[in-house]
Amino acid sequence: MRNLSIYIHIPFCVRKCFYCDFLSGPACDGEMESYVNLLLREIEKQSIFYGDHRVVSIFLGGGTPSLLPAWETGRILERVREDFALAENAEITIECNPGTVTAEKLENYITYGINRLSIGLQSTDDGELARIGRIHDYASFLETYRLAREAGFRNINIDLMAGLPGQSLASYRKTLERVAALSPEHISAYSLILEEETPLYVNRESYTFPNEEEDREMYELTGRYLGEAGFQRYEISNYAREGWECRHNKVYWRRGDYVGFGLGASSMVQNVRWKNPEEHAAYAACVEKMEADALKRMADITETETDRAARMEKSSLQGMDFAEMLRQTDRREVQELTLQEQMEEFMFLGLRLTEGVDLQEFQRYFGKTAEEIYGKQISSFTEQGLLEQEGRRLRLTPRGVDVSNAVFAAFLF
Ligand code: SF4
Repeated sequence: MRNLSIYIHIPFCVRKCFYCDFLSGPACDGEMESYVNLLLREIEKQSIFYGDHRVVSIFLGGGTPSLLPAWETGRILERVREDFALAENAEITIECNPGTVTAEKLENYITYGINRLSIGLQSTDDGELARIGRIHDYASFLETYRLAREAGFRNINIDLMAGLPGQSLASYRKTLERVAALSPEHISAYSLILEEETPLYVNRESYTFPNEEEDREMYELTGRYLGEAGFQRYEISNYAREGWECRHNKVYWRRGDYVGFGLGASSMVQNVRWKNPEEHAAYAACVEKMEADALKRMADITETETDRAARMEKSSLQGMDFAEMLRQTDRREVQELTLQEQMEEFMFLGLRLTEGVDLQEFQRYFGKTAEEIYGKQISSFTEQGLLEQEGRRLRLTPRGVDVSNAVFAAFLF
């Protein structure tokens, strides 16, 4: 059986943060319920292609998935369990924002098999949180964190941001100190990106942002401070205690198969990438097409196979024009990756990981050595001290991490 990861997009938030351009927004309970109904239909109908896959991770992201009533989250996971073969030790993550969960909701999550909680904190400085429009303060984060531990979560990620308006190196250090002292299993620390048309971008003149040098100092401080506190950087912006790396995110960087359900969700399966529509009406129409397509495909199977396990075994992507099916069911940006594009992704996604890329795996996968394809780039960056090779692994050096975007760009044909 092939491994598969599942991403489920929940596009609801209490209100928009000032820097956010994700596909998310406020909604009432009725809208959430009808969205979940659509999601369930999509999950059920798409499962017919993955009878020969085993789900190793599920990630409920958004948006703020924790805004859903607990029973809706339960319905989603029940559907996945019904329709997919779930690995016994699958990593199941839900994103949550401080103040959007109660003790009862967290206990329900545990009952549903959710075993990883990702909390969006961003900063422990209330002034910084207010300036970027977060719905919570530091105290409400502490309460959510306490409730999560009490409910039994043993795997918690905390999201942080550097480069916030009004943030200083000292206040950022304070955030790192407070968060590390809580001893979560995982910390993500990204730099703020000013996205056009967000309120923060439109009003950028009225804020003071850390300059480039301060940004760099914050990045260096993150690695240094968290390293001393027992967190290893395993990806450019991600840190974990030993054994607690996020398995789901590593699937993206290692180019494993993943399928995304919900509004605007992205997928990549067997070197085909695609996206779901981003507008609600278009997504609903797309789910209807998926249903009609699934009915046709399953017709001959259901006549002869009454046993569900036998049907699952028969349902797979083998022998079908998968990309064509995706186009016919209104999926967007369907792209069958060429060999060249697969090589590019292998390099620039794999080099994000501290362990780097496996050169033997490159050869096994593409039938050519990485040196044959990228010899010039590898030797030039190695001479400049930006890449290093140890055994079969090629990875960025600490200096290479500083200029990683330039290194990645050189691996594009
Ligand atoms: S909580 Fe996350 S998804 Fe929602 S508005 Fe804020 S940044 Fe965007």
